[in-house]
Amino acid sequence: MALGFKDAVEVAIGADLCTIEEAHDFMKEVPAEKPFMATSCCPAWAMMAKKLFPELSTNISMALTPMVLTARLIKKQHPGCKVVFVGPCAAKKLEAGRRTIRSDVDFVLTFEELAGMFEARDIDFDKLEPEDTMHGASGDGRGFAVGGGVAEAVVNAIKELYPGAEVKTAGAQGLAECKKLLTLAKAGKYNGYLLEGMACPGGCVAGAGTCQPIAKSTASVALHKKVSTHQHAYESNYQDILSGLEEGLFDVPEEDK
Ligand code: SF4
Repeated sequence: MALGFKDAVEVAIGADLCTIEEAHDFMKEVPAEKPFMATSCCPAWAMMAKKLFPELSTNISMALTPMVLTARLIKKQHPGCKVVFVGPCAAKKLEAGRRTIRSDVDFVLTFEELAGMFEARDIDFDKLEPEDTMHGASGDGRGFAVGGGVAEAVVNAIKELYPGAEVKTAGAQGLAECKKLLTLAKAGKYNGYLLEGMACPGGCVAGAGTCQPIAKSTASVALHKKVSTHQHAYESNYQDILSGLEEGLFDVPEEDK
């Protein structure tokens, strides 16, 4: 708030909603409509997949990303507000610039850029009083930030929402490994699988705009998961409005379109 932001909302709330959507999509579409499904939340992975493996593009989940779902939720709650996504990811700038998303996310800043703003304003980050505004997300949603966390959240949701269903997963981190994963998927090695791709080795905790060692961020995420009021995405308080958020079934002010 020292920089002029009105509030901070954790994007893991959107990760919970993304999890629920991907769980339902997986059960509906694999194998009836497609041999496997790949997660959609890492824009660098999704773009690489669509460019290098265009024939597999329909295998990338159509679920909206945590960033977009959270932005839509904020705009529903606070019509007319401006939404700034702050995170470790440089690729989110490209995602936010896409025509269908531009109205939801107004600006994207990396942690590094935010740190620069604190420095420019001569604000000592370490001396700020913590404000308890980051709550409402599940442990699984918070776990999206670490490699393997997205698939784990979706599997947990499938187990609860579709008792008895089996889902196999495979994942890759770093674009070279992601490319290998898709090459094998193209050859049919992952039929029936949920594939998680993360462009940064380690997951988002290793994003290009982060300011601290990956191991430290990974440990912080684990701690943050533990103190969640609930552990699984399917317990989200926001799931009833998920379909409205997906379809934009609420009034977005004209100037925000
Ligand atoms: S893995 Fe890296 S590129 Fe992908 S969403 Fe996370 S920070 Fe962004």
